[in-house]
Amino acid sequence: MHEAANRQFQRAADLIDLNPDYRKILSEPENEVVINFPVRLDSGEMRMFKGYRIQHNNLLGPFKGGLRFHPDVDLDEVKALAAWMTFKCSLVGLPYGGAKGGVTINPREYSDGELQRLVRRFTHQLGDTIGPEIDIPAPDVGTNAKMMDWIMDTYANVSGPGGRQQLKGVVTGKSVEVGGSLGREAATGQGVLYALRHWCGETGQRLSELRVSIQGFGNVGSHFARLAALEGCRVVAVADHTATLHDDEGLDIPALFAYARENRMIKGFDGADEIDTEKLFDIAVDAFIPAALENQVTEERAERMSCRVIVEAANGPTTSAGEDVLLGKGVDIIPDVLANAGGVVVSYFEWLQNQSGRAWRVDDVDTRLREIIWDANDKVVAMKEELNCSHRDAAYAVSLSRLADVYDRRGIFP
Ligand code: NAD
Repeated sequence: MHEAANRQFQRAADLIDLNPDYRKILSEPENEVVINFPVRLDSGEMRMFKGYRIQHNNLLGPFKGGLRFHPDVDLDEVKALAAWMTFKCSLVGLPYGGAKGGVTINPREYSDGELQRLVRRFTHQLGDTIGPEIDIPAPDVGTNAKMMDWIMDTYANVSGPGGRQQLKGVVTGKSVEVGGSLGREAATGQGVLYALRHWCGETGQRLSELRVSIQGFGNVGSHFARLAALEGCRVVAVADHTATLHDDEGLDIPALFAYARENRMIKGFDGADEIDTEKLFDIAVDAFIPAALENQVTEERAERMSCRVIVEAANGPTTSAGEDVLLGKGVDIIPDVLANAGGVVVSYFEWLQNQSGRAWRVDDVDTRLREIIWDANDKVVAMKEELNCSHRDAAYAVSLSRLADVYDRRGIFP
C-alpha cells in the first residue's frame, strides 16, 4: 500500500517537476513508532498488542491523522495512510502535517472496559510522541468519540496541572461534552457530499437526480447517505461488513440509519432485499461511494462497474489497475485526499476551539467547512484543466505545489 501511495505521489511530482530533494523527503515518513504493550482482559489473562504511530511530515504544522483499530493494521498500511494525510492537509490549506496510527485488533471482540484499558495504556506509552502542538490523533475505522475522550483524559492526567484547556487539543473527534466540535461526527460524510455536488456543477448534473450506491455504513458512509438522501439522491444499494442491501426505488435511509445506530450493522434491516456482496459492483448507478476500506475497487470489479463518478470517501479504495480501467471508461474519480478531507477540516476547527476555549455554532462550522472544501475542489478542477490530467493527479499537484513553496521559503535545516 505504501508503494501504491508513493506511485500516486511520484506521478504528480513528475507532472509539476517537483524539486528532487523534496521528492526524497516526502517519499518516506519522518518518524515510525512501533509499540508492543500489555492489556489485562476481563478474564484475567494479560494479552500483548501492537500499536503504531507514523509521523510522515510536519513542514506545515503539527502531525495530524486518525487512529485505526482493525485486524489488518500493519506498518505498511499505516505508512500509506500517514502520507495521504500530509497531502490532504496541504491540499485543503490546513496548518498541519500528516500522521496516522493504529492498533492491530478487532475492537468488536473486546468489552468497553478492555478497550478503555487498551486505549489508555497505548496513549501512555505514546507519551510525548503526541501533543496539541506535536501530533494530534482523531477517529478512523474502528475508533470513535468515546475512545478520543479516553485519550484526552489520559494525556491530561499525566501532563501536570498547567494549560488544561489547551491540552484538550491533543486529540480531535472528542464528544462535544468534553471539548469536541459540533458537526465533527458528520463532517467527513458532509465533505464527501460537497465534493459530489461540486462534480455535479463541473459536469452539468443535478445532485437530486443521482442514483447512488455506498460501500461502508460506519461513520462516513452513514452520514453521507443521510445527507445525500436529504438532498434527494436515490441511494439504491448499501453494503457493510455484514450485508449488502438493495432497493431500486431507493432505500429508506433515515430508517436504515436508525437501525444501524442501534444494531451496529445493517444485517437484519427488513426494509430492503439482501443481495450477494459482490453484486454491489454490478448495480448501475451515477455515483459510487466507497466508504469502507482500501483496495476495494479492483481491476476485476472496475470492469463490471457502471457509474459516472466515484467519490472516494474511504482512503485508498481504488487500486491502480482498477483506476486505469475506470479512467479508460471515462469515469471520474474524485480522490480520497480531496473527497474525505471534511473530517480533518472540522478536526482543525475543534483544535482552534480548544485553543481559544470558545465553542462554535454548528452553522458556523458548516459554512466554514463548505468554503474550504469548495475552494479546494475549485483549485483541483483548475489544475486538472491546466495539466490536462485526472482529478487525482491534479489534487496531488495542488498539494505538492504548496509543500514545495513552503520548502523553497524555509529551506532544509540546517
Ligand atoms: P467505521 O469503522 O465507522 O466504518 C467502516 C464501515 O466499513 C463499517 O460500516 C464496516 O461494516 C464497513 N466495512 C468494513 N469492511 C467491509 C467490507 N469488506 N465490505 C463492505 N463494508 C465493509 O469507519 P469510518 O470512520 O467510517 O471510515 C471509513 C473510511 O473513511 C476509512 O477508509 C477511513 O480511513 C476513511 N476516513 C474516515 C474519516 C473519519 O472522520 N472517520 C475521515 C477521513 C477518511
